[in-house]
Amino acid sequence: MSQPLEKKENLVHIRRLPEALVNQIAAGEVVERPASCVKELVENAIDAGATHISVAIRDGGISFLQVTDNGSGMSADDLALAVERHATSKLADLDLSHIESLGFRGEALASIGSVARLKITSHQRGQDDAFAILVEGGKVGEIEPAAHLPGTTVEIRDLFFATPARLKFLKSARAEQTQIQEVLKRLAMAHPHITFSLKNESRTLFSYQATKDPLARLGDVLGRDFEDNAVAIEARYNDYTLTGFAGLPTLHKANAMSQYFFVNGRPVQDKLVFGSLKAAYQDFIERGRYPFVCLFLELSPELVDVNVHPAKTEVRFQDPGRIRSMIISAIKHALAEKGHTASSTVGQTAVRYFTPAASPAAANTQVQEHAPVFSPSQQNAFTELNQPSAKFEPVESPVEAHPLGAARTQVFENYIIAQSEEGLIIVDQHAAHERIVYEKLKKQMQESGIKRQALLMPEVINLENASELLEKAPDLEQFGLVIEPFGDGAILVREVPALLGDTDVIGLLKDLADQLDDMDQATVLEEKLLYVAATMACHGSVRSGRRLNAEEMNALLRQMESTPHSGQCNHGRPTYLKLDRSAIEKLFDRK
Ligand code: ADP
Ligand code: MG
Repeated sequence: MSQPLEKKENLVHIRRLPEALVNQIAAGEVVERPASCVKELVENAIDAGATHISVAIRDGGISFLQVTDNGSGMSADDLALAVERHATSKLADLDLSHIESLGFRGEALASIGSVARLKITSHQRGQDDAFAILVEGGKVGEIEPAAHLPGTTVEIRDLFFATPARLKFLKSARAEQTQIQEVLKRLAMAHPHITFSLKNESRTLFSYQATKDPLARLGDVLGRDFEDNAVAIEARYNDYTLTGFAGLPTLHKANAMSQYFFVNGRPVQDKLVFGSLKAAYQDFIERGRYPFVCLFLELSPELVDVNVHPAKTEVRFQDPGRIRSMIISAIKHALAEKGHTASSTVGQTAVRYFTPAASPAAANTQVQEHAPVFSPSQQNAFTELNQPSAKFEPVESPVEAHPLGAARTQVFENYIIAQSEEGLIIVDQHAAHERIVYEKLKKQMQESGIKRQALLMPEVINLENASELLEKAPDLEQFGLVIEPFGDGAILVREVPALLGDTDVIGLLKDLADQLDDMDQATVLEEKLLYVAATMACHGSVRSGRRLNAEEMNALLRQMESTPHSGQCNHGRPTYLKLDRSAIEKLFDRK
């Protein structure tokens, strides 16, 4: 039995979509959130040659967002064209392979006008008058006379009022504001000769004065720590110039959010770059930590395709391998010049004899029967020892028989030098203690839940990503970390894990926030929890720089001997090195 091919009402008709709808569809890619508007408007101001750009927002830019510049301005005719789709002044030679400006697609203003209320007021330099135009949900108004100094003000109200589905994807005003700050900071880093400011209501969030010194601007944005701890990068190869600053390996954080890359003045996110930075720093920095880096690549426009995505944050390089090798070698070179990798040949020979040993816990079962031995003065240093079962008695036995031997002294405020029957041992006190706290946290978590301790004075901490961290409050409570909201962008910390003792609560929360931020949604809870435990352990550990007395040092060695995996800290670095007596004698040509 044959079926009729189509019922009449199923007949397909193709039709052209109305302009306003086309613009709304395009807006889906260009205008994702208030921060994308800021990016487009500020890029326009930069392209217009402004030396002064100020941004004002309300409600994270959702209800109100304004960008004012002192650039070239627009004539009345240009104003009318500017809000049309695919109208641009930036592709003068109509050649996509020679893009010198930040914009070129001619769709930002049209897109924004289709989903929000857009008002542009502009005064073209050299002309007498200013004009304004209004676009609301795609409806374009008349050009009206207005008052304005040379330059342009673009105002966006009620973003996504015309496409309410989009509104649901926005985060809190606070979170949107953070994104705006990020976007503006990036652009400011690449354009130090421009003064930038950001205001929320009447509060100035930041204001960066124009400067000729790129590092001074980076200091304004990334903090003085970066300015003081960065080495200059400079590399040239044919049409490629790489400049910028690389942070010393000692300056690092728990996520890659302080790694910036700019291509011809355009902030770009590129996996290739993150990978290259990892390779460049791998000998200097522990896994899971990320250096601060800010690199500017200038190359002739035909060597890079910036027309990859409407948001223009991705690019495609003609020769990615070249860029990778330039980054790696430039950074390695700069860091080496700083002298941080310098090491005498004798030292290197000696180091070869140091063998990072396996976990001493496995090496010796006998010592596990010993109760930890330490004095009351150690209570502060090793809070976790302060348990009812612990005995307080002086150390006096010949402890050389233990795998990690007897502590002799401490050097550089972080390394315990110990002597065992077999040789000389050097312990990194911070790394070792971190492992001990970590294992204890894991054990408590499995057995009885982590013991909490109320802070005498609850701490209040301001964090950019406070709301994200607060969302994790129930998870963190499992770890004995009790936090609650404390007004706009602030967190109150009530309780911390008892094991951590007198810890740097602010530092701990900042690191946790950064790490959780960086973690994939898909990361399983178990793994997240271990991460949290590791971060806590790091903060609850004896800092390097703290002087220990003999009893404290020996107590730490005994703890290590009874802790699983104590041969490495949580970052995979060794916690101690051992130099056999025979190796020492060989080094001195005695054998
Ligand atoms: P594009 O930047 O890709 O050209 P836009 O939609 O962002 O597209 O802007 C369209 C045009 O409007 C620009 O090409 C430019 O000529 C003009 N324009 C936009 N903003 C400004 C501004 N702040 N100052 C001067 N001209 C501007
Ligand atoms: Mg533009």
